[in-house]
Amino acid sequence: MNIVVCIKQVPDSDKVKVNPETGTIIRAGVPSILNPYDHFALENALKIKKDTGGKLTVISMGPPQAVEVIKLALSLGADRGILLSDRAFAGSDTWATSYAISKGIEKIGNYDLILCGQMAIDGDTAQTGPGIAHHLKIPQITFCENVSIANGKAEVSKLVDGGTLDMQAELPALITMTMPSDYLGIYPSFLDVFDAQDKPVETWSAQDVGAEAKNLGLEGSPTRVDKIYAPERKVQGEIFSGSANELADKVLEFLKQGRFIK
Ligand SMILES: Cc1cc2nc3c(=O)[nH]c(=O)nc-3n(C[C@H](O)[C@H](O)[C@H](O)COP(=O)(O)OP(=O)(O)OC[C@H]3O[C@@H](n4cnc5c(N)ncnc54)[C@H](O)[C@@H]3O)c2cc1C
Repeated sequence: MNIVVCIKQVPDSDKVKVNPETGTIIRAGVPSILNPYDHFALENALKIKKDTGGKLTVISMGPPQAVEVIKLALSLGADRGILLSDRAFAGSDTWATSYAISKGIEKIGNYDLILCGQMAIDGDTAQTGPGIAHHLKIPQITFCENVSIANGKAEVSKLVDGGTLDMQAELPALITMTMPSDYLGIYPSFLDVFDAQDKPVETWSAQDVGAEAKNLGLEGSPTRVDKIYAPERKVQGEIFSGSANELADKVLEFLKQGRFIK
């Protein structure tokens, strides 16, 4: 089973700051981590590799410092690490990003299963995984908490409102992952980190993966960001006062008026 896990380096914060003039993410001064959802995908992939054998490759598109998350993945047990890094990728929206990553995966070749995080905690669109599946023309299942391989198919439990759906996909398939129910949060030992320093990370340019310039960067990005802002939350509350019995009556009346109860 040849597995590819798409991993993204993200700022270590869920409070991403945005430049109000350019609408771009301010990364300076913010420490970076592996996107937590990609850690879920990586841990699940390592489990599948242990069960089925095969090769686990991680791929990331980003600036040269994104090599850090690839090294982390290698220290956790990934066999091969690839960084897509090129000025031609700068300014890419999710459409162009997923195109570039799909070209990288095509170059890796011979893949059975592609795992992505459900979303990146900075961009937060959850569009990249589905975009990659679209470009590669393979089936996809999103928002899965467990993935395993049985009878040559991917078996997943997909989260839906009020429960989970058990689903199967023919391989090759792309699955996006949320936290597995048996997630351990594994981290490498000091020795694993040390060993990973000697493992090479391949850096590929747009040309290396055969990505056309017109489909990359701002030119290849159909998304136009008009404005980025924190949504205003207008919470209207009511504070009741009185004795315990009076409060109970008031809450009951409030619930009846709101038709929450009869
Ligand atoms: C017009 C426009 C211009 C932009 N310009 C820039 C820019 O100049 N520089 C910049 O850094 N960002 C830029 N972005 C943001 C960039 O497009 C997104 O960060 C990227 O497409 C991933 O989207 P996301 O963060 O919403 O990830 P999601 O779609 O939420 O991520 C889901 C999963 O996809 C995979 N994934 C996502 N991104 C990567 C990646 N890079 N490598 C490997 N796997 C990945 C991971 O498995 C992740 O868990 C721009 C966005 C727009 C709309």
